[in-house]
Amino acid sequence: MIRVTVWNEFKHEIRNPEVAAIYPEGIHGCIASFLGANDDMEIKTATLDMDEHGLTDEVLDNTDVLIWWGHLAHGSVRDDIVEKIYKKVHRGMGLIALHSAHNSKIFHKLMGTTCSLRWRDNAREHIWCVNPSHPIAKGVPADFRIDREEMYGEFFDIPAPDELVYIGWFNGGEVFRSGCVFNRAHGKIFYFQPGHETNPIFHMPEIQKIITNAVRYVYNENKAEDVACAHTPAVE
Ligand code: ZN
Repeated sequence: MIRVTVWNEFKHEIRNPEVAAIYPEGIHGCIASFLGANDDMEIKTATLDMDEHGLTDEVLDNTDVLIWWGHLAHGSVRDDIVEKIYKKVHRGMGLIALHSAHNSKIFHKLMGTTCSLRWRDNAREHIWCVNPSHPIAKGVPADFRIDREEMYGEFFDIPAPDELVYIGWFNGGEVFRSGCVFNRAHGKIFYFQPGHETNPIFHMPEIQKIITNAVRYVYNENKAEDVACAHTPAVE
């Protein structure tokens, strides 16, 4: 079983009735619900206002893949918890950073760059697969349209991705590296751009399929105990 924790700051859904109408159970509830249909996954959710943001040591010790959605409250996430997640990723916990998680503390820390980008509300997007044999793209159309999404455009200040799976094109002419994989020690990170809160992105079957595939892709069953430098005897 892949033990998935879906983390959401859960602020827009409480403050904005438009968002609550799209995600009555919260963005985390929607993601947990479609992932929960897979019998190889066990899903938990956690939100910012829970004790330790719902990410206690016990929860993190029992998480194989952490999914992160945040926007308004990046600054309220405790640094000590970010540090724990950072270490877990290096030891093999998978991380999926969605949409505005590009500006989360954990994504910044793992990338080491500003992760800044251009943005504008209300654009039409086409998602193009640039790596059709990649496991994250399995069973997903080679291109598909999102009728309304927030434009995220280049330059996106990230390190060169280890694997690029999707590029987004917007009707304002912009392009964006929308689906990127990064390796950090024993861990894999998938950044995926669609997912603005006022658009029903996480209800789209193509998006659900990509996130489901990404959970399986970033899952590492052989987590490392330690990633420190080790003095090592010769093997020969
Ligand atoms: Zn957004």
